[in-house]
Amino acid sequence: MMKVLIVDDQPELRHVLRICLSAAGLEILEAGNGQKALAAVKEHSPEIIILDVMMPDLNGTEVCSRIRQTAPGTSAYIIMLSARAEVTSRVCGLESGADAYLTKPFEPQEIMAQLRVGIRAVESRKSFLTDSLTGILGRRAFDALFGQTIARSHRHKVPLSLAIIDIDNFKVINDAGGHAAGDKVLREFAQLLRAEARDSDLYFRWGGEEFTWLLSDTDLNGARIATERFREKVARHQFPGVGQLTVSIGVAILEELEDGTSLSARADAALYRAKDGGRNRIEFDQPQAPSAITA
Ligand code: GH3
Ligand code: MG
Ligand code: MG
Repeated sequence: MMKVLIVDDQPELRHVLRICLSAAGLEILEAGNGQKALAAVKEHSPEIIILDVMMPDLNGTEVCSRIRQTAPGTSAYIIMLSARAEVTSRVCGLESGADAYLTKPFEPQEIMAQLRVGIRAVESRKSFLTDSLTGILGRRAFDALFGQTIARSHRHKVPLSLAIIDIDNFKVINDAGGHAAGDKVLREFAQLLRAEARDSDLYFRWGGEEFTWLLSDTDLNGARIATERFREKVARHQFPGVGQLTVSIGVAILEELEDGTSLSARADAALYRAKDGGRNRIEFDQPQAPSAITA
């Protein structure tokens, strides 16, 4: 069921909207101010957000631009609803990232029509970003979110780790059981990764039998623990009709001022070392330690 978040400081208005929307078979969430809205987006990932502009703490345009900087906010459909009808307010709302701008007082039938537009938009955004075989985020989502995630880590000065995971000898599965067997393994593998990643992490099918895992707020030590746990989990898992599989993983930790191209190149180089080193292993790309000072 699609989730709609109603953000307005007036409880009566939230109530009226709830009544309007309840017939549409959507799950309805409410937030009474901007901070609560941001928390609800993070926790519930609503697909559609109806957002008031004038609110006492954070105004709607500020809330909107902050929502767009979060992973669930990238594909959410945001409808701004404001008493301000002037062109400058409308433009400001749309420029902050809203998809539509309606004015109060509103006609329920217009809200409903806009909601249906939103549902269609969310469905096409989702299918654009999702890998159709495994149902997890795909390469296009990675390209859209990787840069944003890196920018956020630099801005908030929190660590970020990138793991590139490649299934070992995957070709053998296709050769032995056909493409359908390989596809089934990829689907199951994606579910193992989904179960292992934290809610704040992002993981993607990056192509073929390769997956990427962005571990947020995770330094070298944390990445070591998490990727090792995943490697072991895969190695122990029984894939129906196939049996056991292993993965090789290359990991790099984001450095100061580093961009995505450099980070993924380092993780990729580490992955090659893991393959060369015999597979079923993890290699870390670490910056060159300063050479020991000799007397
Ligand atoms: P290595 O241990 O060196 O990674 O060997 P590998 O066999 O896993 O790697 P290689 O790159 O040689 O082969 C990858 C295989 O993945 C070949 C390709 O046909 C298969 N593959 C890629 N995408 C899909 C897919 O969507 N479905 C299926 N069934 N197979 C796929
Ligand atoms: Mg490969
Ligand atoms: Mg492989």
